[in-house]
Amino acid sequence: MKNVTGPLPRIEDFVKRPTFSVKGPIGRSKSTDQIFVRAGRGEVDIDTRGVGPSSPPPHPLDRVMYAPCMLRAHLWKIREPKPLKWKVEVPDKAKMSAHIKETARYLGADLVGITRLHQEFVFENDRSGEPIDASNFTHAIIVAKAMDYDRIQTTPSWCDHVEVGKRYQEEGVLTTTLAIYIAELGYRARASFAGADSVLYVPLAVYAGLGELSRIGIMLTKQYGPRVRLGAVLTDLPLEIDHPIDFNVGSFCESCKKCATNCPAGAIAAKEKTEVKGVMKWKVNEVACYRYWRKDPMNWQDCIRCVAVCPWSKPNTRFHRGVAGIVSNYPISHKAINFMDDLFYGKKPKKKDQPTSFNDYRMTEEQYMQMIQDTEMNIKFLAPEKH
Ligand code: SF4
Ligand code: SF4
Repeated sequence: MKNVTGPLPRIEDFVKRPTFSVKGPIGRSKSTDQIFVRAGRGEVDIDTRGVGPSSPPPHPLDRVMYAPCMLRAHLWKIREPKPLKWKVEVPDKAKMSAHIKETARYLGADLVGITRLHQEFVFENDRSGEPIDASNFTHAIIVAKAMDYDRIQTTPSWCDHVEVGKRYQEEGVLTTTLAIYIAELGYRARASFAGADSVLYVPLAVYAGLGELSRIGIMLTKQYGPRVRLGAVLTDLPLEIDHPIDFNVGSFCESCKKCATNCPAGAIAAKEKTEVKGVMKWKVNEVACYRYWRKDPMNWQDCIRCVAVCPWSKPNTRFHRGVAGIVSNYPISHKAINFMDDLFYGKKPKKKDQPTSFNDYRMTEEQYMQMIQDTEMNIKFLAPEKH
């Protein structure tokens, strides 16, 4: 694949205290190596009482967000619209970037940033093994949707899984709509969203200045902490790019470790960073994590306990923005802020109950076991129909 965006810029050239460093060449990742795809192929030893990762969930609202009725499987077909032959002229890239960001926010993005599409972060293949080519695109517009703070406090539960799926669904609609809009301006665009992913979102979002890589291995934003879901639009529209930012996440994660303390699977490293595929960073044990996701499939099928307890995940109120400002500017405050967070929210915050009636219409185990024998439903989840 040709590389039109040049070599990956050094993170150290933008921020003083990066939370990761690139040690060698970064090979492109394969969607088929993702833990849930490997588990779907039976390559990960998980005891799930016969309920596989490709099984639809027993909760009806969860099935709306995931298999078998998910809207995203249909968006897949229109995610790369044909550009209009007539192109708008873009004499001022900064003005166009501001317009695209304003449009993304209008369409529902909570955060938006723009980076060059570094080809290292384009998946080599999709979940069904088909090669992915994104060499026609020069930029990635990264959008984030914040998840509801109270709902994710119920994790692991159906309620948090529905909340995650709802944000994925919104990302799907938002990125596809934005891609169609860019095609109407006469430029190439492809939406990338959960289930139709062309790229690794976290490194591109870090390069787009949306946040920093955290101990959990996902991006932490100043506004919502790691409580966001990401999507992207790849395009060749001329745009001005954003740059990585530093608001002291590295130093805060060094002393905090609340995610590691609260992880029910012991999957988060409480110690030093390690080198993974040429990148020095904190590493999550994805097999241990995913085993926990599948541990009790009648009651949950994911977990975001680490995200729920992170002190940065608090609601985006004036008070919490003030605290985030102190943390960002004064590393000396970190231990005191950790202490206050433990004092007010607990060292091990209690899981909240799901909203009343949330579980009333869930299938019984017997009905569920009957349903997952329907192979047609199982297939749809991992391999949405292509156009
Ligand atoms: S819980 Fe603490 S250590 Fe973990 S990601 Fe959040 S700030 Fe970093
Ligand atoms: S998602 Fe849950 S199991 Fe996985 S690392 Fe986070 S807290 Fe641990």
